[in-house]
Amino acid sequence: VEMPEKKDSRGNSIPGIKNIIAVASGKGGVGKSTVASNLAVALVKMGFKVGLLDADIYGPSIPTMFDVSNEKPLSDNNKIIPVESYGVKLLSLGFFAGANQAVIWRGAMASKAIHQLLHDANWGELDFLLIDLPPGTGDIHLSLVQEVPVTGSLIVSTPQHVALADVKKGVAMFQMPEINVPVLGLIENMAYFTPKELPNNKYYIFGKKGVQKLAESMELPFLGEIPIIQSIREASDYGRPAVLQEEELVSGIYMNLAKNVI
Ligand code: ADP
Repeated sequence: VEMPEKKDSRGNSIPGIKNIIAVASGKGGVGKSTVASNLAVALVKMGFKVGLLDADIYGPSIPTMFDVSNEKPLSDNNKIIPVESYGVKLLSLGFFAGANQAVIWRGAMASKAIHQLLHDANWGELDFLLIDLPPGTGDIHLSLVQEVPVTGSLIVSTPQHVALADVKKGVAMFQMPEINVPVLGLIENMAYFTPKELPNNKYYIFGKKGVQKLAESMELPFLGEIPIIQSIREASDYGRPAVLQEEELVSGIYMNLAKNVI
């Protein structure tokens, strides 16, 4: 990781936005975007004003998860107007790159895009702006902390050994003096699987409580576990976050998570 040049401030705050929360992961594919999208809708259900910025340059999936992949944000007085879905104000690099286009963002280009999506957008009043970061530790993370004062970060992981190793790197990055973003806690995704026919059984496919144990050993808050549930995956693909489902089993998981985050 290359050091950002030390600035005398942490970047300018965005007027009207109270909290900026980065959602990060060590590895890709662990469910970071799914957590970010469900958390955003859960916070809306709790009555908060919420925005979600999809900064995942490698695979912006938020437009699909919110069923707005064909939308193009409008602008007003040179300010980009976020697209709204399920009460969440959304901006994504995917809106500008085209859904099926293989995007090879150069570092500087991606950083400029992030700057614009943060500062040249009309977010209005928000209690929370969630940022769905790319996996790992890279340029976008550095740009983000230079662009805006980030309130805190959430780190999503599966309990798998190789994923946990990268969580440690992610935590270390946020705790570097130059970055200094509080880690609000770890979230264990794909914690276990329970088949319908065996409702009392838990199969720990990726290992048992790995994220929870890591949180304890690193003295970080553990914010909750999310099992592997088919309807969570279906909801993402369908474009209607799972937290909107009637079934308490699924929606309750994300509502509890949101309560632990705020
Ligand atoms: P990331 O943002 O870390 O790359 P995604 O959020 O895109 O990961 O999730 C990767 C895949 O796993 C997606 O197909 C998503 O629908 C699925 N998924 C995520 N969390 C769960 C879960 N708890 N149960 C079932 N499927 C999940």
